[in-house]
Amino acid sequence: MPDQPSTVANLQGLAKMSENPVCQRWIPSRIRELKAYQVASAQDLIKLDAMENPYVWDEGLRDAWVERLAGVPLNRYPDPAAETLINTLTRCFSVPDKAALLLGNGSDELIQMVALAVGGPGRVMLAPEPSFSMYQVIAKITGCDYVDVPRHSDFTVDGDALLGAIDQHDPCCVFLACPNNPTGNSCDSALIEKVARASSGIVLVDEAYHAFCGESFMDRVGTLDNVLVMRTFSKLGLAALRLGFLAGPKALVDEINKVRLPYNISTLAQITAGFALEHLNWFEDKAQAICHARESLHKALDAMPGVTAYPSKANFVLFRLPPAKGNLVFESLRQSGVLVKNLHGAHDALSDCLRVTVSTASQNRVFLDTLTASLNDGV
Ligand SMILES: *Cc1c(COP(=O)(O)O)cnc(C)c1O
Repeated sequence: MPDQPSTVANLQGLAKMSENPVCQRWIPSRIRELKAYQVASAQDLIKLDAMENPYVWDEGLRDAWVERLAGVPLNRYPDPAAETLINTLTRCFSVPDKAALLLGNGSDELIQMVALAVGGPGRVMLAPEPSFSMYQVIAKITGCDYVDVPRHSDFTVDGDALLGAIDQHDPCCVFLACPNNPTGNSCDSALIEKVARASSGIVLVDEAYHAFCGESFMDRVGTLDNVLVMRTFSKLGLAALRLGFLAGPKALVDEINKVRLPYNISTLAQITAGFALEHLNWFEDKAQAICHARESLHKALDAMPGVTAYPSKANFVLFRLPPAKGNLVFESLRQSGVLVKNLHGAHDALSDCLRVTVSTASQNRVFLDTLTASLNDGV
């Protein structure tokens, strides 16, 4: 979450808005109350805040990719159904025959499509929290109420609380991030299935971190009427591409597809993704290296006095600092050239928590040394 703007800036914003009668008359208060998504500037900093992959293609691979792009007819619209890419994805990620696929301009857009299809005033979306912030934002944009179901103190999903909330609210959509951002833990298939059977609405299993996890619900897709499994290329090393996909029962995917804008996936993205999938083992090798680095990073963090590091099945580690240290350490790291994500203030359960993306061995070392220095300096 972005830093809170100062009260003065807030008031100026409100003043500006109220001067414009169109805003008052026509922008619903649920939109006026939102803040546009803000991203911290990472200029000249080691960027460990957004779960990007640190590795880039070598020159040989890059040249082959550029050559492929050079053949793209830029004057033509993309294939609206992205048929070739969908067939490749189905094959590469073992999507069951029973399932249909839908592509999004990032998985954020897929969450938005699901919300446009089933959301609306008087309806509820729900997730075990803390979780990915866009669930709540997109729910609210579409007029839904958002219900935050607390996790256990170790961030595992509280199954009884979740099933109770589903019974109480009959949500149109339940979000289950497996593994979860920002906590890093996953949830097991038995629980997903229980939640699906208890829900009349959609259960969206968000597998953004699948590459680092080794578990998936994908092989079950199509066997339950209400389960969608979503993945993204972003955390795999292609964040610039903006490409995500969603697998689910054909009848349900066909309905969600109706709210998709035509040509939402550019030809450049379709061709690049196809090329990337020809080199899937490059990505898998890098994911494996990140998983190794994650284990040493977790161990080193957890060994620091006063620091609690949470176990992670993703490409980041969440850690908690002693009371009242979160903001100070975040700022000290940034002053020393390292940008992580400050989660203090994002949710009651995340006080003094920071989240660091796992990077190369040398960047992880710089981060650990910088953090050690901050803590030794009594920050
Ligand atoms: C990063 C993230 C996404 C968003 O992915 P994009 O494909 O880049 O839009 C979705 N879900 C979770 C849980 C994430 O952490």
